[in-house]
Amino acid sequence: MALALATPSAGQVRTAFPDKRGFKLSDFPRTVKLADNVYGYEDIRQPGFTTVSLFVVGSDGVLIVDGQGSVEATKKMLGEIAKVTPKPVKWYIVGSDHGDHTAGNSVLPADVTYIVTPFSKAQLKLAAPAMTGDKQAVNVGGIEVQALYLGRAHTGGDLVAYLPKQKILFMSEVFLNRVFPAMRSAYPTEWVGVIDKALKLDVDRFVPGHGFIEEPKVSREELLEYQKAMRAVIAEVSRLHKLGLSADDAAKQADWGPYKEWFLVDQQGPIAVRKIYDEIEGKLK
Ligand SMILES: [Zn+2]
Repeated sequence: MALALATPSAGQVRTAFPDKRGFKLSDFPRTVKLADNVYGYEDIRQPGFTTVSLFVVGSDGVLIVDGQGSVEATKKMLGEIAKVTPKPVKWYIVGSDHGDHTAGNSVLPADVTYIVTPFSKAQLKLAAPAMTGDKQAVNVGGIEVQALYLGRAHTGGDLVAYLPKQKILFMSEVFLNRVFPAMRSAYPTEWVGVIDKALKLDVDRFVPGHGFIEEPKVSREELLEYQKAMRAVIAEVSRLHKLGLSADDAAKQADWGPYKEWFLVDQQGPIAVRKIYDEIEGKLK
């Protein structure tokens, strides 16, 4: 295991592409210490960018936020956690209910306590009770972790995990660091507002659900950059919609500017066009 100190920020290329960032695939998975007993975990998923989980080690157990995308990948993550602590995994916050973060959850301990919004509980067909409000605090044996619902963003059931003492905010798929805004099940304009709410919290380091974990100062700059990208994508699609283009034509003509360099642009660009068209046309409920 590469128990790395967080990535150096000086001169660091800002990208989600591991090779451009100076990594080899054999460098993964990476466990990145964020604070005492708080770790980020990056592993590579297809087609070659990172999925990030968070784990917090308390005096009587481990809390995980988001898993990985297959039984094999989540087993690997549990193996890496076991190298840090022998304590059992007791809590699991569903930041994103999408398969690339949950498809391996069957290998979590059977008695794990889920913290999940009603929306994501339904998506995952979980038997566990859902949150009844917008905030649920977990005392992970000496460390407080708050699951916060800041509104609909990438999935509709999005939770972020806030560690108020450590000033860390794990944002799951609300923050896709240098990955083109992925909107298949998103609420584009509401998502921009959710990022505004996150930026108002007392946070030193914002941790993404995809892309790389950054040093604190860079993490805020990159979250702002991600929000700027979302605004730019929404503005470009709105411009094309006003011209009366079909969604297919708009997808062909869209000029994503600097964001055409971001991971997944070819796959996610046309999806974003359709979703923003739906929003403009009032089809997004
Ligand atoms: Zn994902």
